[in-house]
Formats: sequence, structure tokens, C-alpha cells
Amino acid sequence: MSRTLAILGATGSIGTSTLDLVERHPERFEVVALTAATRVAELADAARRTRARLAVIDDAALLPELEQRLAGTDCRAATGRDALIEAAVSAEVVMAAIVGCAGLEPVMAAIAAGRTILLANKEALVSAGALMMGAAKQHGATILPVDSEHNAIFQCLAGSRSQDVSRIILTASGGPFRTCSLAQMRDMSPEQAVAHPNWTMGAKISVDSATMMNKGLELIEAHHLFGLPPGRIDILVHPESVIHSMVEYVDGSVLAQMGSPDMRIPIAHALAWPERIATPAARLDLAKLASLHFEVPDENRFPALRLAREALDSGAVAPIVLNAGNEEAVAAFLDQRIGFGDIADLVEDLLVRVDAPAPRSIAEVVDIDRMARDEMRGLMLAHMA
Ligand code: NAD
Ligand code: MG
Repeated sequence: MSRTLAILGATGSIGTSTLDLVERHPERFEVVALTAATRVAELADAARRTRARLAVIDDAALLPELEQRLAGTDCRAATGRDALIEAAVSAEVVMAAIVGCAGLEPVMAAIAAGRTILLANKEALVSAGALMMGAAKQHGATILPVDSEHNAIFQCLAGSRSQDVSRIILTASGGPFRTCSLAQMRDMSPEQAVAHPNWTMGAKISVDSATMMNKGLELIEAHHLFGLPPGRIDILVHPESVIHSMVEYVDGSVLAQMGSPDMRIPIAHALAWPERIATPAARLDLAKLASLHFEVPDENRFPALRLAREALDSGAVAPIVLNAGNEEAVAAFLDQRIGFGDIADLVEDLLVRVDAPAPRSIAEVVDIDRMARDEMRGLMLAHMA
């Protein structure tokens, strides 16, 4: 049985891995819509290959080029917020693979339409957590986690009753600076920060892995997806990235999901659920690996972990501020306007500056996000002066 599929963020790391799988299993999915920010040639090429009906480019200046590249096909080229929302509700299954809070509104539109959302875009869930999960329940939408850790937990939970779970254990690779001192980390360059030892990913999440903010965002993500209090979610550094996360049950059993570090495995799981489809990912050879290692995370060297835990404990506003500040800081770091060590320092400064009543709607989440970004830009200007 074939289902319709939209891929938001089709030109990114998750988006292209999704296309790779879908094109290996053409009988499973009919691609109807693809979106991208600026990579117009890749977008048009993917739309031609998959015979999509709608291609949306965020950068309006690139629309004429997209139209030209799609000439002679049945695919309509579009730009703008309404077109992005149209793409998000156009299919039964939606891969949400836009990076950052920019993906929030389309994800919410897909939820309101009761779609099945394959959620890679963790920033949207971090910012709108309770509202998003509430809307999914209200509209009967299904959210399937694509983030490897959350997908692993979802697999290990296997529909168990929540009272049978004692805790979940999120594993973390520790990133490229796992063994560095704070002093060594301070002046790391963007090139060094994005050179992840195990995974190839987009630039933003690669920097988040280096600061370990990624694991902090994932803690918040896990709390919302699985409804467990923060005290029952542990983080464990596991440098080989073979165990993608674990669930411990009340009887002492621990279930782990393992596999080679290839995002096509969790993406394939979400695409085919509750069935399975083949992927070309390397098979795990445990005899060759011989040993796996585990360490307690160090919140002194990786303060982003502490900031995320504190933000989650303090309510609905701090996670929005944490995420917005981090997005701005990571962009500035990649642009070489601030240093690596400044990212967590500036986010910590921001968290004490921005407060608001708890948001009751997505519009209020977007307002707080905007306010936090404005404040963060001011903080960074003052920092650079
Ligand atoms: P990426 O930077 O490689 O791709 C991002 C995609 O989003 C691109 O297609 C880009 O065109 C689009 N995009 C960016 N900004 C946009 C905007 N303002 N409006 C519309 N579209 C926009 O990122 P990625 O690594 O593929 O990550 C995507 C999401 O998946 C992130 O939230 C990330 O945290 C999450 N994730 C990624 C991985 C991974 O291995 N890459 C693993 C787990 C989770
Ligand atoms: Mg992850």
C-alpha cells in the first residue's frame, strides 16, 4: 500500500537520507511535496526524480529559478509561508526535517490536519512541547520520533505501560570535544566543531553536539515525547554511538536499541512503522568493535547540559529562550562572530534576561522566540564590542 509523503527540509542531511530511502522503496511512498530554504538546484532535481507536485523554496528571490528548473513537469513551484503550510498538510505522512524553530508552524499545521509526523525537527518540540503534544492528542495526529535516541527509546518501549518504565537512558557520543578541557574548547573553530567523530549531519546540530546542547535539547524532547519527569531521564556518554538509547523497566531489565551510526536506520523505522524496510546501512559487527564505553557526562565542561536541565525544570518559557538563544549563538559562531565558549555563556546570560507568562498558543511561543532572538542579538553585539 502506497502512502503520500511530504518532506519539509528535503535538501538537508535528514531530507536527503529520507529521499534516498524513499527512492529505494518506490512502491511504498508517493512523494507529493518537497521544501527547501535555498538549495534550488537540489530541490528541483529531487522534485523531478520523485515526480512531486509541489516544490517550495523559502528564499523568494529563487522562485523564478525554481520555476525555470521545473518547466515541463507537473510540479508547481511556490514560496512563502502559506506554500510551506500547504506542503505540510498535503500528504498523509510528513517528514519534519527543517532545522530550527522555523519548522514549528508547518509541524503544527500537519498536526492540526491529523497527519503522521516523522519528527526530526527537535527545536520545534523543545519550544512548543506541551502545546504540540496536546494538539497531537486533540487532532489524532501521530508523532514518530526520528532523532536516533528517541527513535531508539520508542523501539525499546514497544508499547509498554508507562508505570512499568523506571527510567530512560539517553546516550550521547560526547561530540568532537569529549576529552577536551574547557580552556582547550574556548577557541575551537567552526571547522573543528562540525567535525563529528561518528555522524555526518547539518552544521547546526553538529555544533550542538560539540557543545552538548544537542543532548540538552534531546532531554527536553524526550520529556515531551514520552511523558516522563526529568528526574527519570538520564544522560550517559557512550563514545562509539552503537547503543542509541535504553529503557530501564521496574523489574531491572534494560532494553537497548543498537545499530551503526547511520540516520537511515531511524528514518527507515519511522517511515515503515509498524513494519520494517531494508536500508543499505552498515551492519553492526560487535566482535570487530570488541568493547563499548560509557562515562558520566561532565556538566562543568559542557554547561549547556546544565542549562537545558534547568530550563526544563523552570517551566514552559525557559526552553523557548534556551532554544532561540542557542540558534542565534550557533549561527553567530558558524559566522565567526563569537567564539565556541561564548555559546553557552551567552545562552546562560539570556536565560536570566527573558521572561514571560507561560504561552497558551503557538503565536505566543513564536512571540517569545522572537523576543529572545532580539535580546540575544543585543547581547552578542555588546559582547563583541
Ligand atoms: P540541515 O541543515 O542539513 O538541513 C535543514 C533543512 O531545512 C534544509 O533542507 C534547509 O533547506 C531547510 N531549512 C533551513 N532553514 C529553513 C527555513 N528558515 N525555512 C524553511 N526551510 C529551512 O539540517 P539536518 O542536519 O538535516 O537537521 C534537520 C533537523 O533534524 C534538525 O532539527 C536537527 O536537529 C534534526 N536532526 C538531525 C540529525 C542529523 O543526523 N542530521 C539527527 C537528529 C536530528
Ligand atoms: Mg540525536
